[in-house]
Amino acid sequence: MAYKTVNPYTNEVVKEYPDATADQVENALTETHKLFKKWEQEGPETRADQLHEIASLMREDSDHLATVMVTDMGKLFREAKGEVELCAIIADYFADHGADLLKPTKLDTIATGSAQVQKHPTGTIMMVEPWNFPYYQIMRVFAPNFMVGNPMILKHASNTPGSAAAFEDVVKKSSAPDASLVNLFANYDQVSDIIADSRVQGVALTGSERGGRSVAEAAGKNLKKNTMELGGTDCFIVLDDTDIDTVSEIAWRARLYNAGQVCTSSKRFIVAANLYDQFVEKLKENFAKVKPGDPMDNATTLAPMNTKRAKEKLQSQVDEAIEKGAKVAYGNEPIDLPGQFFQPTILTDIKPDNPAYYEEMFGPVAAVYKVNSEQEAIDLANDSDLGLGGIVFSGDSKRGEKVASQIETGMVFVNNFMVSLPELPFGGVKSSGYGREMSNLGLNAFVNEQLIVTA
Ligand code: NAP
Repeated sequence: MAYKTVNPYTNEVVKEYPDATADQVENALTETHKLFKKWEQEGPETRADQLHEIASLMREDSDHLATVMVTDMGKLFREAKGEVELCAIIADYFADHGADLLKPTKLDTIATGSAQVQKHPTGTIMMVEPWNFPYYQIMRVFAPNFMVGNPMILKHASNTPGSAAAFEDVVKKSSAPDASLVNLFANYDQVSDIIADSRVQGVALTGSERGGRSVAEAAGKNLKKNTMELGGTDCFIVLDDTDIDTVSEIAWRARLYNAGQVCTSSKRFIVAANLYDQFVEKLKENFAKVKPGDPMDNATTLAPMNTKRAKEKLQSQVDEAIEKGAKVAYGNEPIDLPGQFFQPTILTDIKPDNPAYYEEMFGPVAAVYKVNSEQEAIDLANDSDLGLGGIVFSGDSKRGEKVASQIETGMVFVNNFMVSLPELPFGGVKSSGYGREMSNLGLNAFVNEQLIVTA
């Protein structure tokens, strides 16, 4: 059984889940397609009420839902509660705005008669999601597509089956049709077969570049529209006029939130030479303050990583970085607890010939670079195959914005944390993927924008 919950704090195997059978796969395709045919004939109004209901159910059951995530992948309980609330906010947003965003648009044309673009559902969407935000990643695709009228089949990460089942349960408990979202503990071959099936009309994947390439290949081969939300090596630029106390308070959180396992975590800190020493010193102080421990305990501030394998991979990346010349400014010591803890670590002196210069480190490791000019900061930020997000800090927000617009990523925040909200498009460029989730852009990802011209 490939799908199992292993609590990363206790290492206990909590539950194993049987693999999806061929019958379950066929049933998911049949039922979601039947629902699509029904939804094609209906407007989004009833679905808006059902989506609000799903938001309410999540809020009512947030302690339980959060605990399931903590057990699956180890995040801090309070962060898990925050994630459940964010899911409810996303559901409410699309319930409130979906119908308006799906209204037909009239076009000015010299064609005879009137022209409009109507928005229709297209069919079942296959979604493939990662473990790091087990509900939020589902909700980013679920809420907009539910309003559009596209039913969904979910393949979640093999280490978060409890969360996948819990999300599906919420939908089942609501008055939304059961086939709105069907969770399958599917293997890769089954995912490929589902993508190839004519009843499936779209594929949404969030995950690694490697996973993205192979699922996008299956989608491309079958001419299925797809969105790819992949990894990032996000920059955190500190320009020379930045207030060091403000930026330091944000920097450590931007790296350590969710034990550093966020696609948009700040991973490369690019700091003006005049502030570099102070910045590194304060980052060390803040990293030293975190308290590893039971993620259910409110006093804990550092969660374990999601699996033993993830921790080992990060350790081997850090070891290789050091072997190739990086210096450890802080951390990289074992933590004497049974869970999958990785001590927050600061690496400096990483040169372009070091693999760490380009690789995504998906855990609590900060790479800090010293730069001598604004242009050098921009060039370093852009010297990456990935282009997801980034943060720019400056005492002058207009200057920060000017720098932000030169960063080759899908999202940049100036003078603050990156946040994800339903009204803001989410996605990247380069090998961080393509397409956007959330906002009107996400809502339109799998819509048939049908032109109707009436003479
Ligand atoms: P991953 O290995 O690609 O896994 C993500 C999902 O894809 C899992 O459900 C996985 O299933 C599935 N998968 C992988 N290869 C597949 C294939 N060939 N066919 C079908 N399904 C396949 O990603 P990860 O390493 O666990 O997740 C971390 C990565 O995700 C990081 O790079 C992070 O930056 C990125 N991420 C991006 C975003 C974003 O919005 N851009 C958000 C969060 C995370 P199994 O678990 O069964 O292998």
